[in-house]
Amino acid sequence: MSSPPVVARTIPALRRALAELRRRNASVALVPTMGALHDGHLSLVRLAKRRADKVVVSVFVNPTQFAPHEDFGSYPRTFKADAAKLAAENVDLIWNPDVKAMYPEGFSSRIITEGPAVAGLEDRFRPHFFGGVATVVGKLFNQCRPDVAVFGSKDFQQLRVVTRMAVDLDMGVKVVGAPTMRERDGLAMSSRNVYLSDEERVLAPTLYRAMKEVARRIKAGKSIDASLAAGAELITGAGFVLDYLEARHAESLAPIKSRKDGPIRLLVAAKLGKTRLIDNIAV
Ligand code: AMP
Repeated sequence: MSSPPVVARTIPALRRALAELRRRNASVALVPTMGALHDGHLSLVRLAKRRADKVVVSVFVNPTQFAPHEDFGSYPRTFKADAAKLAAENVDLIWNPDVKAMYPEGFSSRIITEGPAVAGLEDRFRPHFFGGVATVVGKLFNQCRPDVAVFGSKDFQQLRVVTRMAVDLDMGVKVVGAPTMRERDGLAMSSRNVYLSDEERVLAPTLYRAMKEVARRIKAGKSIDASLAAGAELITGAGFVLDYLEARHAESLAPIKSRKDGPIRLLVAAKLGKTRLIDNIAV
């Protein structure tokens, strides 16, 4: 049995714990999370373990990526259960700062991202989001100086934004993407799935089914626009309010009109009752 993970809650405690981990030149992988951990997060931890000697998981619900009307206050916080799950995965260090440790009084800097961050997907509906994500991820990278950082493809635009930022700002971190973990009925695992009522939970996998149907039609030679229209109908027919269902170039996230214009990624965001879900698949 290895020892349980060290939990650091202040920057000096983090520094000490990292210095200990890095003895004998051990490489470090970071897995940033907002906690409420599910098997999707744990799959990132397992990938991180294959990529580095030591694994650090940050658990921090980042206020700057939520708009005032969003769910920062009610976001599930389950630290005890999270720590037990991370101990079972033999994680070395949990970085769990409070908001004051992360954003001390007088904090007044922000990382501005362009390119994939202004692709007209999440940024159209959550204009504050990538500024908050980029700033906190930039801070996490500076605090932990990881060799590798693992992010889920579940948040596909975020993965593209963070990958680009790490390169553009010479952060010296290799960003690695991990596949989306799903429930048996296809619903992408998400900390927000706990918001769904029983009836909504039954309808929620429609998002994934609709994307699969769009992919099937595109592969069968149907036009992208007509395929997306059919998918949108399935989604709204199940009672969702659709924010977007789009086909984009999988690397640049540029709009795409034809299959020959490059690898296609389908991306969707929709609200079911009060819960906003996002998902994406390759065609
Ligand atoms: P979050 O705690 O929601 O901020 O997510 C932390 C990390 O876990 C992000 O890199 C997400 O993309 C990733 N993640 C969330 N859900 C899943 C999932 N179902 N499968 C794989 N990775 C996920």
